[in-house]
Amino acid sequence: MGNTDITNAADVTDVTDVTMEKLVSLCKRRGFIFQSSEIYGGLSSAWDYGPLGVELKKRIQDFWWKEMTQLHDNIVGLDASILMHPKVWEASGHVENFTDPLVDCKGCKLRFREDNIPEENRKEHKCPECGGELTEPRNFNLMFKTHIGPVENDSGVVYLRPETAQGIYVNFKNVIQSSRQKVPFGIAQVGKAFRNEITTKNFIFRTCEFEQMEMQYFIHPDEDKKWFEHWKKVRMDYYEKLGLRKEKLRFKEHGPNELAHYAKEAFDIEYEFPFGWQELEGIHNRTDFDLKRHSEYSGKDILYLDEITKEKYTPYIIETSAGLTRSVLMILSDAYEEEDLDGDKRVVMHFHPKVAPITVGVFPLVKKDGLAELAKDIANDLKESFTTFYDQGGAIGRRYRRQDEIGTPYCITVDYDTKEDKTVTLRFRDSMEQIRIKIDDIEATLKKEIKNYKRK
Ligand code: ATP
Repeated sequence: MGNTDITNAADVTDVTDVTMEKLVSLCKRRGFIFQSSEIYGGLSSAWDYGPLGVELKKRIQDFWWKEMTQLHDNIVGLDASILMHPKVWEASGHVENFTDPLVDCKGCKLRFREDNIPEENRKEHKCPECGGELTEPRNFNLMFKTHIGPVENDSGVVYLRPETAQGIYVNFKNVIQSSRQKVPFGIAQVGKAFRNEITTKNFIFRTCEFEQMEMQYFIHPDEDKKWFEHWKKVRMDYYEKLGLRKEKLRFKEHGPNELAHYAKEAFDIEYEFPFGWQELEGIHNRTDFDLKRHSEYSGKDILYLDEITKEKYTPYIIETSAGLTRSVLMILSDAYEEEDLDGDKRVVMHFHPKVAPITVGVFPLVKKDGLAELAKDIANDLKESFTTFYDQGGAIGRRYRRQDEIGTPYCITVDYDTKEDKTVTLRFRDSMEQIRIKIDDIEATLKKEIKNYKRK
């Protein structure tokens, strides 16, 4: 049997936490995330997902989609268009209310969100960067405006949606009529949203173009408290199921002055990013605000008829709204670890196997004597069920390290014994433990390991 690893879990002497610098560098080096239009100097706050990043993002989306639709009989999906009738945004309140107060420095010309600058600077109208004089605040609408048709006049104005939720509300009747759902039921959607954010920093945390994963749950108004508590719990459990560290997650309630114009009650789920606790997801009791407003602005009846009680009413909505791109950053931050293995540094991404970009690496111990062919056959067989990566380059320890750094949870190594007894080494990323299993058992073993995975 080839003893192919160079250490085991007992040798880990120290663990260093993640910093944004390390994360951004790893993301670029290993092909998770690149600056947009980099060869032209980059576009601030826009990012491209590389070969591994796109796999990670897609898997997080798939995980969410399964948890929020497949596992519920009464939640259905939707994919609404990004461009919508401009009246949608009047009805939703975004034209009027979706603004940030902005101030400019007359000296250094920097622009700030007034609510983000220190109290003292605000009072004295003093720039926090250069001490120059600040202008009076002006409200700046965060929606991106564009035009449909060849003429740029007001009649063709449309907006890039600033949230995916409205596409769900305006389709409420269509979904009820076509899917025969009864209240309570939910509609889920994942898609792009756009906000002309003033302060975009911290990598992909806050960007002008991002993706949301939203589920709007339609309920009887008398049951809002019950369903609000229900979804708070389900959504927190979801993050733990995704393998995130519990101590890095918390709820934060919105105070009366922080509530959005549509919300009766709101909690954020926050994660402790390397730059501090920040919102990851909002859970809102949006009441009947949105459906009533769309009914008013469209002139259409958007009531729900309870066929048993014959009551006709406007349902309340409990919204769970999570950022997909922000989840990618959270999962990258949570997964990153630098271990000191008696002087040898190991960078390892502890992704949950369900979201890891590559599930299994397959290596021949050496290229010669038919081992490469054998390993390739195994890799080809596994491809049907798992994202598989074949690698025959360099020392075996280095190949393991390369997979650790991109978070591949399992590696299979083929050695001389494989030819004799049809067994391979299965090596686990987190513990670096190795076991010997039969080729015929690889698939079932991996499936079981993925299902039962728990981060230590
Ligand atoms: P924030 O307070 O961070 O601006 P928000 O309260 O305006 O966020 P919501 O409108 O509730 O955010 O949007 C729901 C989710 O969408 C957020 O929890 C976040 O994960 C994501 N999100 C919102 N704005 C952005 C953005 N500019 N970039 C990336 N993700 C975003």
